[in-house]
Amino acid sequence: MNRYLGKLAVHTVREGDGRMPMNVALPGITREDLSALQRWHWSPELSLDPAEAVFHLEVRSYVLQIDGLNVLIDSCCGNGKTRSVPWAHQLQSGWMDDLQRQGFRPEDIHLVLCTHLHADHVGWNTRLHNGRWVPTFPNARYVFSRRDFDFFATQTHEPHNREAYEDSVLPVVATGQADIVDSDHLVHREIGDGLWLQDAAGHSPGCVVVNAQRGGARLAFMGDVIHHPVQIHRPDVAFFADEDGPAACATRERLLAEAADDGAVLLPAHFPDPPACRVHRSGRYFSGEWLARG
Ligand SMILES: [Zn+2]
Repeated sequence: MNRYLGKLAVHTVREGDGRMPMNVALPGITREDLSALQRWHWSPELSLDPAEAVFHLEVRSYVLQIDGLNVLIDSCCGNGKTRSVPWAHQLQSGWMDDLQRQGFRPEDIHLVLCTHLHADHVGWNTRLHNGRWVPTFPNARYVFSRRDFDFFATQTHEPHNREAYEDSVLPVVATGQADIVDSDHLVHREIGDGLWLQDAAGHSPGCVVVNAQRGGARLAFMGDVIHHPVQIHRPDVAFFADEDGPAACATRERLLAEAADDGAVLLPAHFPDPPACRVHRSGRYFSGEWLARG
């Protein structure tokens, strides 16, 4: 992995994990797809039978270091949040301890970039202080895509995302720490030699990929553009929680093709640990290659 980083450093901060049946998470995945996956990735929870295979997601953040900036990418579910889904309700995880163990105090974070505004990507944006939700990172600018910011102001079909918007997004706007930006947005330096957001609409309307590159490969923090390695073989299969399934599939295929062509390192939000991988064209779609495994 190190030879791809150039002047960048990347850390992962873990909150926890989750599981559901493969044929619920990704309806349409076949035995043949799982067999293709088996050539480069497997775990005891997987099976060639989609009805038996377990779909496992890690829930993590990344901290990217670039030119003296500490950039938090996605902020998991957060502690003590009231949520109408059990997997995010009143969590007390070791996320903050993990962050600090790696040398980052909350005041050391300069930028918070959310790939989208779902509840499992914004939670640690805020913490409870004297009964109020306040920004966890007092010195940070927080960057949100305008399309998600507008969408989650009115969406009602997933209450937990609405709850997250109210206690983990709006308090940051209230303190003046939020920058609401277009989905294609330059954050630092220039495209190809800096830090920039790229439109990745589909999983949510304002989904973005966070790209970083400084003398090495392009690092593509994919958020929820892709949830599981089997989707490298079948980018055309929608995740059950994709807001717009066909758009999410088209975006996934387009961004995987870009990564296959430029050799980008993919760092998806929910991939198994360690998550860094590359993709290669293979038949109609792609195959994968882990970068930090033996
Ligand atoms: Zn997610």
